Amino acid sequence: MIGVLALQGGFIEHINTLNKLGIDSFEIRKLSDLENKQIDGLILPGGESTVIGKLLRETGLFAPIKEMIDSGVPVFGTCAGMILLANKLENDPSVYFGAIDITVKRNAFGRQLGSFHTVEEFQSIGSVPMTFIRAPYISEASDVVEILAASKGNIVAARQRNVLVTSFHPELTGDLSVHKYFLSQVCGKT
Ligand code: GLN
Repeated sequence: MIGVLALQGGFIEHINTLNKLGIDSFEIRKLSDLENKQIDGLILPGGESTVIGKLLRETGLFAPIKEMIDSGVPVFGTCAGMILLANKLENDPSVYFGAIDITVKRNAFGRQLGSFHTVEEFQSIGSVPMTFIRAPYISEASDVVEILAASKGNIVAARQRNVLVTSFHPELTGDLSVHKYFLSQVCGKT
């Protein structure tokens, strides 16, 4: 089963996408939600990373989720979820899970481009529709990180081992390909 962090932000859209793919999921809101579950993967949705970060601490979910990620459980972070997984933020001193060796710039596309939609090539998938909402991008990635997509000259999708991140929201476009990629390539589900 895939656990979807459901403290704030766009978690329902991820659950709907997984439903369309016939994949069981459950919402993670409190510690007891993690009990007696076979967790094959985690999704950290978009939203407001500072709010999700604060709620992770308040609910006590931060430590067990960090432990899962560090032990190799597959995790997919979109937008704010990517911010939570990054090793470093360019314009913010916070570090949350520190699970992928990238530097992320928050709200990086600027005011004019606050929200936009585009189509870009995604490594091993092909053309993928991408919706960005006050999105971050990856300003630096170390050699151990696989770059999967770029838009307007900036990296917007990457992977390191069990950790997949996108600046954009594949759960909002109706396109299932990035979730399929996560399930097959990162979770190893066929
Ligand atoms: N700007 C938000 C943040 O910094 C992320 C935006 C999103 O997840 N749509 O948390």
